[in-house]
Amino acid sequence: MRIILLGPPGAGKGTQANFILDKFGIPQISTGDLLRWAVKNGTHHGRIGKKTMEAGHLVSDDIVVDLVKEKIRDPNFSSGCLFDGFPRTIPQAKALKENNIKVDHVIEIKVDDKDLIERMVGRRIHLASGRTYHTLHKPPLISGVDDITGEPLIHRHDDDEEVVRERLAIYHRQTEPLIDFYKKWGIIDPLNAPKLSCFSGSQKIEEIRDEILTILKES
Ligand code: ADP
Ligand code: ADP
Repeated sequence: MRIILLGPPGAGKGTQANFILDKFGIPQISTGDLLRWAVKNGTHHGRIGKKTMEAGHLVSDDIVVDLVKEKIRDPNFSSGCLFDGFPRTIPQAKALKENNIKVDHVIEIKVDDKDLIERMVGRRIHLASGRTYHTLHKPPLISGVDDITGEPLIHRHDDDEEVVRERLAIYHRQTEPLIDFYKKWGIIDPLNAPKLSCFSGSQKIEEIRDEILTILKES
């Protein structure tokens, strides 16, 4: 099974991804995590992407599509995976389609911009695993450290309020049109198009989890 998680930054994609991975045992491909890893390790893609990411802008489609294609070639990912944060533009969605990477579900998580800003400013992450916490809504057992490894949590620079506003504007301009792209595809070619489902991300984390898992189990 292949699943795409779609939604603005801070909607809860990473949080919900962990539940889906646990339930279905499929691996995750998070382009944000892949890019942060590339930056941290100073790879070619990381050096090009660093400034763009810090400004909250989107890294070029070529780089992101390259990273995803490389990952998909890995046998661990070739039969099923969960895409988190990819595709984020129409050309990225077209690249999936043109490369015959069949997707079964697109899960859209919707949240108002003002709630997203509060969420991201309070977000803390464990860089090595991608596990996310929130200072108020999902605090770690011990402040500032990961529950599992005890390693320090970080606050991403691109989660500062000013950068978050820029990222939200980019989401509305470049990523939101994907909803229409998948809707139209579903009308023209329902047999091959992924099933699009929309969830309110303003509910409790566990409520959203249950709704998403119900849809996925039905298919
Ligand atoms: P969030 O989960 O907060 O939405 P991500 O961790 O997915 O953010 O992404 C962090 C940054 O990495 C983005 O702001 C962007 O610069 C870059 N990035 C991640 N995925 C993509 C993508 N599919 N296309 C272009 N840039 C991306
Ligand atoms: P995304 O991957 O879409 O950028 P995350 O899963 O990292 O979003 O969530 C962003 C922040 O909001 C994290 O700090 C997370 O703990 C918190 N969060 C996630 N879902 C909810 C929710 N339903 N209600 C309140 N806070 C949430």
